[in-house]
Amino acid sequence: MNRIFNFSAGPATLPQAVLEQARDELLDWQGRGLSVMEDSHRGRAFVELAERSERDLRDLLSIPDDYAVLFMQGGATLQFTTAPMTLARPGQGVDYLITGHWGKKAAAEAAKLRPVRVVADGEALGYRSVPSEEEWDTGADAAYLHYTANETLHGLEIDPPPDADYAPLVCDMSSTLLSRPIPVERFGLIYACAQKNIGPAGVTVVIIRPDLIERVPQGTPLALNYRKIAAAGSMLNTPATFPWYVASLVFRWVAAQGGVAGLAERNRRKAQLLYDHIDSSDFYANPVDPRWRSWMNVPFTLADPALDARFLKTAEEQGLYGLKGHRAVGGMRASIYNAMPEDGVQALVSFMGEFERAA
Ligand SMILES: *Cc1c(COP(=O)(O)O)cnc(C)c1O
Repeated sequence: MNRIFNFSAGPATLPQAVLEQARDELLDWQGRGLSVMEDSHRGRAFVELAERSERDLRDLLSIPDDYAVLFMQGGATLQFTTAPMTLARPGQGVDYLITGHWGKKAAAEAAKLRPVRVVADGEALGYRSVPSEEEWDTGADAAYLHYTANETLHGLEIDPPPDADYAPLVCDMSSTLLSRPIPVERFGLIYACAQKNIGPAGVTVVIIRPDLIERVPQGTPLALNYRKIAAAGSMLNTPATFPWYVASLVFRWVAAQGGVAGLAERNRRKAQLLYDHIDSSDFYANPVDPRWRSWMNVPFTLADPALDARFLKTAEEQGLYGLKGHRAVGGMRASIYNAMPEDGVQALVSFMGEFERAA
């Protein structure tokens, strides 16, 4: 077997140890003669897995006891609808900070349901920096303030969270959750699709404060109903059992890496190695203001875009896969999530040096 280094933005690389355990248990889960994906979600074994995975995630992120932790479906995209539909009253405004592609999408989805105030939009800054908080156009009447912690396309990350506390913070953490410690108690709602740092696509992690759950109106459709999903232990309907199972293995793996603090240290080093290499060369460039550079997604351009295709082809021949930037941004992007080992970043940096010398 020859595993490549997979720099894809999502679905993304998973820890090899997790894949090996899933493989070993695939036909015979817990000695029960069936696969986890064939077992009832109501059976004791899966219910135990669900409860343990929730406890593990609470431990990893120090989630306050009164917050609910949900395992939903529909990806981050369904949360773009669920939040405005159920946390704001009809006609009540919702505030959105837009710092890139995903924030813009979230705001556009919310605008189908509620009046959206864009508190600031980094578009004029080319999504290379975040508009200063003093300049935001906020409204005290807003049901919440939404932002995107890590803009996956642009490689721009907001940490720590903004100071704003005039409304509950709602945050899309799809491409950063579990990569570093976060102050969960500062948030009303955190959501993240799985296919970056958590597991396979199909399960969506939701962390929600009790007073926001209380806002969910009677008559809300079941699949969007945080209150009912919380009351049912995320088993209101059949959950995505296999992705949830893999996520439960990833949580154990994160704990074994020293938790999110241990991973943060490693992620910081990985990102630093790559940014240092890019900054030390005239051949490569990253446009993002160093204050806001992401630890998870590192976009970069070649001085001569005519070399892009050869860069990608040669990289792939050397086992460095998934480096093509998003079509909206162009150039390259290395996604270096938790499961990307330091060796992978080292191999990329070596390759970049060789390619530059040969060009
Ligand atoms: C990947 C991603 C999404 C999209 O998630 P889906 O599961 O495809 O809906 C949303 N927001 C961010 C920040 C992402 O990285």
